Amino acid sequence: MATNESSDQVMGQGVMSTGEGARIFPDVEACIDCGGCVVACKRTWDVPHDEQRISISTMLEGQPADPMEFNGNSPGALGQANASPGETSIPMQCYHCENAPCVSVCPVDSLVKKENGFVEVRDDLCVGCQYCLSACPFGAPQFPAEDEGAASLFGTGGTMDKCTMCEERQDVGKGPACAEECATDALLVGDATEIADELDKRGTDPFFNDRAMEIVFGDDAGEFER
Ligand code: SF4
Ligand code: SF4
Repeated sequence: MATNESSDQVMGQGVMSTGEGARIFPDVEACIDCGGCVVACKRTWDVPHDEQRISISTMLEGQPADPMEFNGNSPGALGQANASPGETSIPMQCYHCENAPCVSVCPVDSLVKKENGFVEVRDDLCVGCQYCLSACPFGAPQFPAEDEGAASLFGTGGTMDKCTMCEERQDVGKGPACAEECATDALLVGDATEIADELDKRGTDPFFNDRAMEIVFGDDAGEFER
């Protein structure tokens, strides 16, 4: 994977490299739930006002952390008995999973895991059955209302839409708009080793459990077991 030198100045610290094999992954301890990523995505891709390709999931909303043991966003505490991690925000979007369940269940091969790593939706094939929505552990598939195309035959009226990880921007050496906009570098972009190294440097554990990490990173999930 090649980091595009000319784009380094426009990339935030969370963007380590882009292009083939790059992944996107949240550092939930850095997320402050400001919604900047959601706005950047909507603005960049003209996403309709009633739809968003990133959603911020908040756990333990309004609950303070135990100041003696954890910081306010610490997910590390979630796995510990009697721990009080406080309010935790998780930017959820398509992580372009290595073992993508959405691709496995799509009955018409509308979803494909491409050789360069991106999971792409082929709009013209989607019939709007929403199987992918059931299969995705991260709530990434969206179904904007539409009256045209194959999906209208099946009653949902909308074909699937989701984060593209800004493939077109990456093609010209830019990072995903959400990651570049994030004021706290809570969205990390790079290969699995780079993301694992960055989390390590920050002293943050990956938020997801082992099964989810295996879905997102495949064999590379081992990079995070340190
Ligand atoms: S399972 Fe969800 S997060 Fe993973 S590639 Fe499919 S839509 Fe994206
Ligand atoms: S909604 Fe479209 S993309 Fe999703 S499983 Fe059905 S046909 Fe495939």
